[in-house]
Amino acid sequence: MTSEFDLVVIGAGSGGVRAARMAASHGAKVAIVEERFFGGTCVNVGCVPKKLFSYGAHFPDEFALAEDYGYSVSGWEFDWHTLRNNKTREIERLNGIYRRILEQAGVTILEGHGRVEAPGKVSVGDKIISASNILVAVGGKPFVPEFPGNELVRISDDLFYLEQLPKRVAVVGGGYIATEFVGILQGLGCQVTQIYRGELFLRGFDEDIRSFVAEQMAEHGSTLRFNTDVVRIEEGAGVKQLITDSGEQLEFDEVFYATGRVPLLDNLFAEGATPELNAGGAIVVDERYETSIKGVFALGDVIDRLQLTPVALAEGMWLAAYLFGKDKPCSPLNYRNVATAVFSHPNIGTVGMTQEEALATTGSIRVYKSSFRPMRYTLGDRQVRTLIKLIVDDESDRVLGLHMAGEDAAEVTQGFAVAIKMGATKADFDATVGIHPTAAEELVTMR
Ligand code: FAD
Ligand code: NDP
Repeated sequence: MTSEFDLVVIGAGSGGVRAARMAASHGAKVAIVEERFFGGTCVNVGCVPKKLFSYGAHFPDEFALAEDYGYSVSGWEFDWHTLRNNKTREIERLNGIYRRILEQAGVTILEGHGRVEAPGKVSVGDKIISASNILVAVGGKPFVPEFPGNELVRISDDLFYLEQLPKRVAVVGGGYIATEFVGILQGLGCQVTQIYRGELFLRGFDEDIRSFVAEQMAEHGSTLRFNTDVVRIEEGAGVKQLITDSGEQLEFDEVFYATGRVPLLDNLFAEGATPELNAGGAIVVDERYETSIKGVFALGDVIDRLQLTPVALAEGMWLAAYLFGKDKPCSPLNYRNVATAVFSHPNIGTVGMTQEEALATTGSIRVYKSSFRPMRYTLGDRQVRTLIKLIVDDESDRVLGLHMAGEDAAEVTQGFAVAIKMGATKADFDATVGIHPTAAEELVTMR
């Protein structure tokens, strides 16, 4: 019996939309199932609204800086509802664009909850559709640990629709989301405390960068409490009382938890149609993104490789070409040297190995480091700084890692990521004539 579709994609987020669109462009008959929002996490409750809020949170600093340049910017006011509602309008516009992109590509859109009933069979509500291939691209959802009072906390999705901005807020976690949220909330005028269970947040990033960002955030007014775990939260008189593992009681108006995300597998597989999962609940796939069930593929956050939008997009493109392209990819997707940024205040941009990883892998490295005050801040006395680091393999002279924390770190790192992906050496960096005056020129003038 022939299938109705060559490919049915469950989840119209970053990975799903890209895979559906590209598969259709290769001539496949494609359907996509979405139950919540077109564009997925990134567009609705992730990268896009987060970055808009991050832009918004920088204005008070800009106003302060403007004074050093002779402007009087006194008496400014901030209205949360304007920022939130303008953001929501923009997201709704993007939802429409995602929908139109799919329609224009000839993809059939099915709204509702998708479930894999059996190989080749997907249900959407009470309708069953058949497909030669199924792609599961359902993403993840926030994880909040079990403890008394955990029903009182808010998750990252909530920030984007808050009725009021809290005055005193705790953000628990030390990863991407927590650190970005601290910058946003602090910039928008909240008193923010970041609570992290370990020694120093942003585990996995370069150690100098982590310490530098912690210093800069503290200097900027955020309270950072490391080596602190939450054991209980109680509520009374509109206040959330947070009790720590050392017995301290801290009061907040809101507590946000950003303690990781887990695969969104709710009612996704019928009995007997569940593929192999790893210990963290992520779907196990081979290098062609095929699960343990033949013809059922998975990619994006649900497979827990790198939870980043550009990675989900790349996986979607790769799979569409592999399944339906005329020119099949000749090798699996390469996850080495994927650049990433944390839109904390200050931003972090990073590509390649940290100093710690490079030492453990290659043994003999050279480290170039520069910390400076960007020219923009030299007219006043604000202690805003930038840190740049290059990690170089001593033997081959290859640049193994580039790390930057400071203004425009994400933008600068994106450009240099191409050089690092191509295997640039320190000599190549040195042979590049800088652009003056910029912060980025530091990267080609470090000796
Ligand atoms: P998603 O984008 O999550 O899409 C999955 C889709 O599937 C959703 O639309 C969901 O509604 C739908 N779905 C789920 N189950 C079903 C079902 N059974 N039936 C029908 N539909 C279903 N990444 C970056 O690269 N840069 C950033 O700056 C960045 N910032 C982030 C900030 C936050 C606060 C968060 C939470 C994430 C951020 N990310 C960022 C990560 C990025 O959003 C994800 O890596 C990316 O969205 C993963 O894409 P995906 O296609 O795997 O899943
Ligand atoms: P992360 O995995 O980055 O960080 C989770 C944090 O929560 C870690 O600090 C972890 O601590 C801590 N944690 C985990 N479990 C507990 C617990 N039981 N009690 C206390 N603390 C705990 O997850 P996020 O939620 O911040 O973000 C999810 C993913 O989304 C990121 O990994 C990233 O891939 C993506 N993302 C990307 C962004 C970007 O590109 N700019 C922005 C936002 C998200 P420990 O380190 O000790 O394990």
